[in-house]
Amino acid sequence: MITELLEKFGIHHTHSGVYAGDWITKPEGMEFDSINPSDGKCIATIMSGTKNNYEQVMAMAEEGFKKWRGVPAPKRGEIIRQIGIALRKNKKDLGLLITLETGKILSEGQGEVQEMIDMCDFATGLSRQLHGLTIASERKDHRLFEQWHPLGVVGIISAFNFPAAVWAWNAILAAICGDTSVWKPSNHTPITSIAVINIVALVMKSNGYENVFSLCISEGHLAAEWIADDKRIPLVSATGSCEMGKAIGVKVCQRLGRSLLELGGNNAAIISPSANLDLALRGVVFAAVGTAGQRCTTLRRLFVHDSIENMFMEKLCNAYGNVTIGNPWEEGVLMGPLISVDAVEKMMHAIEEAKKQGGKVLAGGNRISGIGNFVEPTIILANPEMPIIQQETFAPILYVMPYHHLGDAIQFNNGVPQGLSSAIFTDSVGEAEQFLSYRGSDCGIANVNIGTSGAEIGGAFGGEKETGGGRESGSDCWKTYMRRQTCTINGGDQLPLAQGVHFDL
Ligand code: NAD
Repeated sequence: MITELLEKFGIHHTHSGVYAGDWITKPEGMEFDSINPSDGKCIATIMSGTKNNYEQVMAMAEEGFKKWRGVPAPKRGEIIRQIGIALRKNKKDLGLLITLETGKILSEGQGEVQEMIDMCDFATGLSRQLHGLTIASERKDHRLFEQWHPLGVVGIISAFNFPAAVWAWNAILAAICGDTSVWKPSNHTPITSIAVINIVALVMKSNGYENVFSLCISEGHLAAEWIADDKRIPLVSATGSCEMGKAIGVKVCQRLGRSLLELGGNNAAIISPSANLDLALRGVVFAAVGTAGQRCTTLRRLFVHDSIENMFMEKLCNAYGNVTIGNPWEEGVLMGPLISVDAVEKMMHAIEEAKKQGGKVLAGGNRISGIGNFVEPTIILANPEMPIIQQETFAPILYVMPYHHLGDAIQFNNGVPQGLSSAIFTDSVGEAEQFLSYRGSDCGIANVNIGTSGAEIGGAFGGEKETGGGRESGSDCWKTYMRRQTCTINGGDQLPLAQGVHFDL
């Protein structure tokens, strides 16, 4: 089954990790294995690229940009529409491959491909809407307007947990905007990136374009550093941990480049006494346990009103007991493995720390013995003073804390360095409005009566504070991938100056 899947996507047992208009057959970097987190076995071996190979990629991406930027945007949209069709045809198998390499369950693997398809549809429509404003000029017979031009080669650094969708958020928008892109994926998920490039390259080649989407997998983080330091790359979009964002952000900033940072979250939900508790329960379990707690938007902190705490916690602990954990390829499984042995160690360490800081484990708390990186989803009764709750541990640990006044719960929600996603479950309009107001959640995403995870591509996605401030995917995020030009045309025979300034010769 795995061999067939790899063959379907043209992936050899030892495959090149560098694509520059075509696969560089023997990149000169170290080889490393992609590991299946469900059984610890090697899926395939990747030949990574060196700085020389990166230079080849960049040369092609720059060359590609010169051609691609001249293609009318609606024509670019037509090609992206074809990519959407190719992804539709490959949805099931690419979803399976994502499941194989990340350990996310079948429907989430497929959901990720659907997100790519949605991005293609969105971008196709957008290709006829990359418009600027016309602004009233204060000067007679003058026309003041803005236009948007392609930016250049966009660097994309992505995380393991959305190994394909995050590429699409960036690369598809960049392509619609007339940019080319160089992608450095996570070394946990190289196979997915190779499959994505193969699907897309077929469409691009059949349309006569080869250098729009490139890939450079390197040893460790090297390619991310090359991208961050590269003055030829005007925009670096980096998705991953806050630590990575701090390292990459500084490098890009030092050369006065533009960065789009999508970093860690430490998301919270508030359960008010007026909430529909059945709905809240489902929302909490999906947000906290889905993708084995490995979403940037995973629910990590839960504030439950003290009047319903006992009742709600009993329901929640029961629900946790009913989560089927196992091989993510099997129907009915709700939670697969963590990505690596290291991730399991980090989770166990965080649980021990939480206990030392006064936390009490209410559900789970253990690794599951046997092959694969399986763990129990865990609930810890905590208090807002515990230092551990300030951190994002990328695993299914939910810290639960009671509250009495909504104002306090909102303060707790905001009282962490990250600012990605947040939610309130309430049937009170007043509470919902308070949560969404300027006095409410300080996060980039604020939801009412749905959990913190599972965003649609139509909205701008991203967060504040240490989450990095970047916005990707829908809404007007395309503007980040273009350069804005403000133009003034004088249609008269006088030369009036702005602000009434006189400069008479
Ligand atoms: P990670 O930070 O370890 O790696 C992400 C990418 O950055 C990888 O390609 C990696 O090679 C590179 N990288 C890591 N450290 C680097 C460094 N010091 N210098 C240069 N490059 C570096 O993240 P991960 O474990 O793959 O993914 C999980 C993290 O990503 C979580 O913190 C999660 O919240 C975050 N994430 C955020 C979003 C978002 O949209 N905000 C989306 C997905 C994941």
